Amino acid sequence: MTEPRAGRLVVVGGGAGGPSAAAKAKRVGPGLEVTILEQGSFVSFAA
Ligand SMILES: Cc1cc2nc3c(=O)[nH]c(=O)nc-3n(C[C@H](O)[C@H](O)[C@H](O)COP(=O)(O)OP(=O)(O)OC[C@H]3O[C@@H](n4cnc5c(N)ncnc54)[C@H](O)[C@@H]3O)c2cc1C
Repeated sequence: MTEPRAGRLVVVGGGAGGPSAAAKAKRVGPGLEVTILEQGSFVSFAA
């Protein structure tokens, strides 16, 4: 499967999985515009 190299990605959730997925997406597609939406006050505060 071809990875998307450009476009927009919205990740819902800033816990452990969200930022991990966002970072992976930027590694395989540096041209992607990635936005993380987190309902709380902290993003990946334990990492
Ligand atoms: C008491 C407890 C102790 C734990 N201790 C450990 C430990 O010591 N070591 C370890 O490795 N794991 C531990 N875990 C497990 C670890 O917390 C989870 O495996 C990990 O946090 C899961 O990450 P996640 O990104 O899938 O979900 P979460 O961490 O739950 O992140 C989901 C995020 O999405 C956000 N969200 C949800 N809905 C929306 C919405 N509609 N819009 C915007 N944001 C939204 C939430 O606010 C949350 O920040 C523990 C879990 C618990 C409950």
